[in-house]
Amino acid sequence: MLLDPNHYDPAHLDDETRRLLRATVDWFEARGKRQLIADAQDKVWYTEFLDFVKREKLFATFCTPASVDGTKRWDAARNAAFSEVLGFYGLQYWYAWQVTVLGLGPIWMSGNEEAKQKAAALLDSGAIFAFGLSEKEHGADVYSTDMIVTKTETGYKANGSKYYIGNGNVAGMVSVFGKLGDSDEYVFFAVDSQHENFKLIKNVVDSQMFVSEFRLEDYPLTDADILHRGPDAFSAALNTVNVGKFNLCTASIGICEHSFYEAITHAHNRILYGNPVTNFPHVRQNFVDAYARLTAMKLFADRSVDYFRSANENDRRYLLFNPITKMKVTSEGEHVIDLLWDVIAAKGFEKDTYFTRATADIRALPKLEGTVHVNLALVLKFMPNYLFNPKAYDEVPTRHDATDDDFFWHQGPARGLGKIQFHDWEPIYTEHAHLPNVALFHEQAKAIKTLLTTAAPDEKQQQDLDFLLNLGHLFTLVVYGQLVLEQAKITGTDAAVLDQIFDVLVRDFAGYATALHGKASSTEAQQQWAVGQIRKPHVDQARFDAVWEQVAALSGRYEMRP
Ligand SMILES: Cc1cc2nc3c(=O)[nH]c(=O)nc-3n(C[C@H](O)[C@H](O)[C@H](O)COP(=O)(O)OP(=O)(O)OC[C@H]3O[C@@H](n4cnc5c(N)ncnc54)[C@H](O)[C@@H]3O)c2cc1C
Repeated sequence: MLLDPNHYDPAHLDDETRRLLRATVDWFEARGKRQLIADAQDKVWYTEFLDFVKREKLFATFCTPASVDGTKRWDAARNAAFSEVLGFYGLQYWYAWQVTVLGLGPIWMSGNEEAKQKAAALLDSGAIFAFGLSEKEHGADVYSTDMIVTKTETGYKANGSKYYIGNGNVAGMVSVFGKLGDSDEYVFFAVDSQHENFKLIKNVVDSQMFVSEFRLEDYPLTDADILHRGPDAFSAALNTVNVGKFNLCTASIGICEHSFYEAITHAHNRILYGNPVTNFPHVRQNFVDAYARLTAMKLFADRSVDYFRSANENDRRYLLFNPITKMKVTSEGEHVIDLLWDVIAAKGFEKDTYFTRATADIRALPKLEGTVHVNLALVLKFMPNYLFNPKAYDEVPTRHDATDDDFFWHQGPARGLGKIQFHDWEPIYTEHAHLPNVALFHEQAKAIKTLLTTAAPDEKQQQDLDFLLNLGHLFTLVVYGQLVLEQAKITGTDAAVLDQIFDVLVRDFAGYATALHGKASSTEAQQQWAVGQIRKPHVDQARFDAVWEQVAALSGRYEMRP
């Protein structure tokens, strides 16, 4: 189930992609763990990694759409695999790639052919990119941008600052979001981080990656630098994040996988009071829960890729699944690391482990590209249609085909989310009703419909985001379970593992129901409903032991080359 560098071969992808992914794994393994950790500790800018990227034309191959260069393609299935590999070796390497993806978004979405050709040539020459959306004073409130573009005799000039902008130290092109001074319209434009009017102020974080603060001082622009104006510029920002935020889940998965190997190998070989630590029942429970959660993360992420790649203007279901990959899968990643860390305890602080870096890195992913709250608020918009108004669609197949994802650059205005319909979520649950915990969870999931029809949030609660976000967590679990089941069916996931996943989900649902019960504004009827959702998962020692055996078999399976 876990990515294993000793036997890594993503057989579902084409030969050249496999070679490149394998070469990436080999590059990290040849470099070795000591160097990886020393570079992170010394905050060394990753020139050698970027040299490798340039030599293999990695970012150029993975990040150029076919419409710009017919010899290349943008393929979210292989990008997901690449993202997982980079996360497996370190968030900082992943981040250099991730902000390149984001920086390219507004360029590939634009009608500016000159900028596109320039970006493609820069990618080919090994350049990396940056995405300048955030500002120090405004956080998620991107509407309030203070980056102002004004007209000059020869074109325009830009003035303003950006904050938290990855790769701002070297990016070949930085896509910058701002406003036109005269009309107040939004604008996206491209600048060069090496231009003299681009003032690099500092690295905001204490890390190997460079998360910059920069200021544009009378930065000269021409029409050739303008990517989008007006509502298009705003849509380009959101649509870029729709593409970029998908990679956060696979990074989280990679981080959890590497950490899992270190944790199980340590715990299973540590003898306390004459027995392995893993003989403790609570330790086994932590490992089995972590394994179930990590498997679910992978199943959900894999299935979401299919919907993302199959999206078109008539099928925008990915707009629900993507924020869940971003918000739920990455939050689950934090959960996995917490479970493992509770077991390995002091070991997780040791400076020569991957784990100790993972404990901090895993926290970043739920917070980047929209916080958990922002994504939950987005998810809520889909809830009525998802639960009550399904629509028939053709079955979305597994999408590992070596084709270009052109729709990503033509997503259209980011409107009408509440109108998007989904295929019926219940049949896949019914199909798996033979698994006792799936059946239990299905009952809980159906109960959300009861809640919304018999004790729906009143007018005041509709304004209470704290209450609503809790409801968002409950709803998210239903969608999460649906795609987990769909992917489990496609891949023939082991029934014991699948039932163990739903053992976790039943408990999680009960947990969020309890939280709803405790919310200041919950009504008597809502409290009664919540209490009714506290269900005990189906206990089956043989199933638990079977999953535990899979976990124990991972002990000693992989250790990064020294
Ligand atoms: C390491 C790192 C790298 C980054 N890289 C980049 C980059 O390359 N480019 C870039 O543009 N940005 C980047 N960012 C910025 C990142 O996207 C922001 O951190 C994020 O958008 C949230 O902004 P904030 O952290 O300032 O939180 P704030 O916006 O200040 O939010 C404060 C609180 O309010 C809540 N909140 C805000 N709005 C809402 C809402 N509408 N509904 C519900 N709750 C809400 C939030 O959840 C949060 O709890 C990076 C950040 C970090 C830490």
